[in-house]
Amino acid sequence: MAQNPERTDSQAILIVEDEPAISGFIRRGLIFEGYAVDVVADGRTALERLRDDRPGLLILDLMLPGVDGLEICRRVRAAEADGDLAPLPILMLTARDTVQDRVTGLEAGADDYLVKPFAFEELLARVRALLRRTAIQQTIAPANRLSFDDLELDLTARTVHRRGREITLTVREYDLLTLFLRHPNQVLPRGLIMSRVWGDDFFGDSNVLEVTVGNLRRELEAAGEPRLIQTVRGAGYVLRRV
Ligand code: CA
Repeated sequence: MAQNPERTDSQAILIVEDEPAISGFIRRGLIFEGYAVDVVADGRTALERLRDDRPGLLILDLMLPGVDGLEICRRVRAAEADGDLAPLPILMLTARDTVQDRVTGLEAGADDYLVKPFAFEELLARVRALLRRTAIQQTIAPANRLSFDDLELDLTARTVHRRGREITLTVREYDLLTLFLRHPNQVLPRGLIMSRVWGDDFFGDSNVLEVTVGNLRRELEAAGEPRLIQTVRGAGYVLRRV
């Protein structure tokens, strides 16, 4: 996803749609409206993407190759229940318009439903309504925290504490730490980290990841605390207590 320092996660939209004409049409319109938009064309890639980097809203086609939209919806809701995550707003798209399809989609956990073909303005109205509803829920929800070992990150306040010590991070260091905290004890390949934190279209110093990890470690270990971000030679990095 292209990195825009102004964007917040709540404005990032993932489109899962196997028909390029439709995903292109939605994507162009939403980008024009100022959203950060990412497109994937099959269910398996969608599940990987959702696990690595949850968007602020999901536009999900019902009929997809591999894993279909209903199954993706169910898995997203199951993962939220397991991981105590805030619910991801899901707008489902379908070519069919039967009562049973609507009911099945909503039962699987979709928040709203749009039948193809639709006008872009109609989609935009639904997207705005869902994001507005989520924003209202977030303001009344308790602080959203990630933690690992003695490290705590508050997603609402964007603060990081280790053993009560407040740690000041740059935007990239914070994004990198958030990615690690969402995947503790899981080896994250370099390429995945680069694309999640810097975006797929990053061109620049190939050492930027090593440098940022080094800086992040220095901040996290400034009071002599043990290392939490480990290098896995030839593979990537892992958040793990050794
Ligand atoms: Ca389809």
